[in-house]
Amino acid sequence: MSTFLDLLRRRLGSLLPAEIAPGERLKLLTPFRHPLLISRHRAGLIVDRVRLFAFLFAVLTPLWSMVDFIAFPSPLWGQLMGLRLMVCLAFLCLLLFYRDQERMGDAYLAMFILFAIPTLFYIASHTLLMHYDLVDMPAAVAAGYAFLPFVLMAGLALFPLTLLENLLVAAVLLLAQGLAGYLNWSTLNWPSFVGAFWLLILIAGVTSLACMSQLAYMVALLRRAIRDDLTGVFARNSGEEILQVQWNTSLRNNSALSVAFIDLDHFKQINDRHGHASGDDALRQTSQQIQSCMRSSDSLVRWGGEEFLLIMPDTDMTRARQAMERLQRNGLGLRPEGTPLTASIGLAERFFDQVESPGALLELADQRMYQAKERGRNRIQAW
Ligand code: GH3
Ligand code: MG
Ligand code: MG
Repeated sequence: MSTFLDLLRRRLGSLLPAEIAPGERLKLLTPFRHPLLISRHRAGLIVDRVRLFAFLFAVLTPLWSMVDFIAFPSPLWGQLMGLRLMVCLAFLCLLLFYRDQERMGDAYLAMFILFAIPTLFYIASHTLLMHYDLVDMPAAVAAGYAFLPFVLMAGLALFPLTLLENLLVAAVLLLAQGLAGYLNWSTLNWPSFVGAFWLLILIAGVTSLACMSQLAYMVALLRRAIRDDLTGVFARNSGEEILQVQWNTSLRNNSALSVAFIDLDHFKQINDRHGHASGDDALRQTSQQIQSCMRSSDSLVRWGGEEFLLIMPDTDMTRARQAMERLQRNGLGLRPEGTPLTASIGLAERFFDQVESPGALLELADQRMYQAKERGRNRIQAW
């Protein structure tokens, strides 16, 4: 029995993309506590997909006028064409003028506009169609107008969304469809309306799977791209991006921003005396030690071989210094011979040092790290 349960657990676990680490599974469910870089890239990707959608709709919506022209009497086709041109214009505006700053708020707004345009079109076209008693071919084409919610629901599969976000959007679409049925907007009759509603729910289920698997691959690929292979902390290029984002945030909020340059002392000796593998172990150990005593809003970056950069938002010089003293007390791990591993640390803070750019902040922390080396290593240099 227990082997069966074990097998079941393993098989269920393997349904998730293999790249997803257990700690990352929660990220597929809700958008809360997503790391900064994931949110930024996800927001960027969502807005790109919105633009793709807007482009396709901007082209296809007016093209369908030809079908309306053949199928519907005048003035219905003309009125629909007017609506379609307005929709086309709205999508073009969304495509050309929507600006985003890679924030999730921008992504949500873009999706809202993208879905609001066809929804308004759906309501307007059904209000028009209601006034006509269509049969045969025209009735068949008019029934096609009821498919829009299906297109939107299926289109949702293009976005890397969490389960919660997906359920919210799907719920809104289902609610709108239910309301349309209640108000008798649908050109379909009652039993087929219920059937269609059920189909919409099924599509919503498939869509949420598609969204989450997109998100899973995105999270896994990003982790590989932004993390350092050896230690798992941020790689240098992501560190530069994080520093720039935190700098912008601290300017906007008028808040403190500290950075610490941490360079391990006499690290080359470890490699020389005990081999490269021991050096690698020491680097992994050190990054774990630093992570265990930093705050969750801090970001640890492997800046170079045995140099780390710790970015501490909302932290003034005094608190940054205290944090580094705590790090020294906790220790950075042990050298293979059993003595403590130490580091020379250079600190800089935006207000304290009155610097004008993130580059200048880094430069200052780097210089202070060298001063700490010159003054005998294993110390914190803050000015
Ligand atoms: P100092 O106290 O002046 O900083 O001395 P140091 O030996 O730490 O400084 P140095 O910059 O001369 O040497 C850094 C060494 O770090 C050189 C290199 O062999 C080692 N190193 C860099 N990257 C890695 C790595 O990924 N793995 C291992 N094992 N060693 C590395
Ligand atoms: Mg060095
Ligand atoms: Mg060193």
